[in-house]
Amino acid sequence: MGKTENKILRGLVFDDEVSLAVLDTTELVNEAIRIHNLSPLAAAALGRTLTVAAYMCSSLKSENAALSVNIRGDGVGGPICVSGDKDLHMRGTIEDPAAFLPPNEAGKLDVGGCVGRKGYLSVVRSDGEGAPFVGTTELISGEIGEDFAAYFAYSEQIPTAIAVGVKVGKDGTCLGAGGVILQPLPGASEENIRKTEEIMENFRSVSSLVEQGSAEEIAEKYFGNVKYYTLKPEYKCNCSRNYIEGVLLSMGEKELMDALEEEGKICVHCHYCNTDYVFSAEDVEKLLAGART
Ligand SMILES: [Zn+2]
Repeated sequence: MGKTENKILRGLVFDDEVSLAVLDTTELVNEAIRIHNLSPLAAAALGRTLTVAAYMCSSLKSENAALSVNIRGDGVGGPICVSGDKDLHMRGTIEDPAAFLPPNEAGKLDVGGCVGRKGYLSVVRSDGEGAPFVGTTELISGEIGEDFAAYFAYSEQIPTAIAVGVKVGKDGTCLGAGGVILQPLPGASEENIRKTEEIMENFRSVSSLVEQGSAEEIAEKYFGNVKYYTLKPEYKCNCSRNYIEGVLLSMGEKELMDALEEEGKICVHCHYCNTDYVFSAEDVEKLLAGART
């Protein structure tokens, strides 16, 4: 049965000393595949990034909070950008959506080769007011999970165990994507930290677990009767014709008229959702007239 709904379950486990998140982002990744026509390798790299970024967005607190993740490695896929907000509206791009590499030694998609093993992962997080928080760490393996774990450890001083995966079928669609993320809270006992490390052994192929069962089933099977709340991330771009009009107006009348003269129309492309916005001379005139009144 195909997956239709993205989910993040969040709760506390191990004497309420460890924060748990179980994610099913299969549809999120399928939407990214549809929009960008991603190769299986590009889907795995962008999909893993979207998944962890969705988790990070699920921790945002203030109303206008948002974050973006930039991964710049030396791999064949080129830079990856993902943005999201408190409403869990997620979007992302990878420079080469057709990226290809032969499978790695384990016979799996070579995500590390796609992302690169040298480079940086940086996160910009704004709470809607004040200066944004910016954190940057060096890539560890380019496999995304380890790289984010290093980011959390060094940039946010939060110990984090992350299993994240994307499984792509023969027809190029995503069969299962998601993750299990555990963060011991400050003051967690040695024993519960050890339990956290041990249980992660079960999630080595977390994408297969998500393919075979729901997030609720995974939570129950491995963590028992957990009290959790559910969030629903989705792939959604925040661009709109109205928004683009604002961007055009901010360029100023002269710039606009120059651009119009050259092409006869103005085309704006949104990389996040692959949408073209076209403005004819008449559209631009109306826009400018509207701004003058
Ligand atoms: Zn867009």
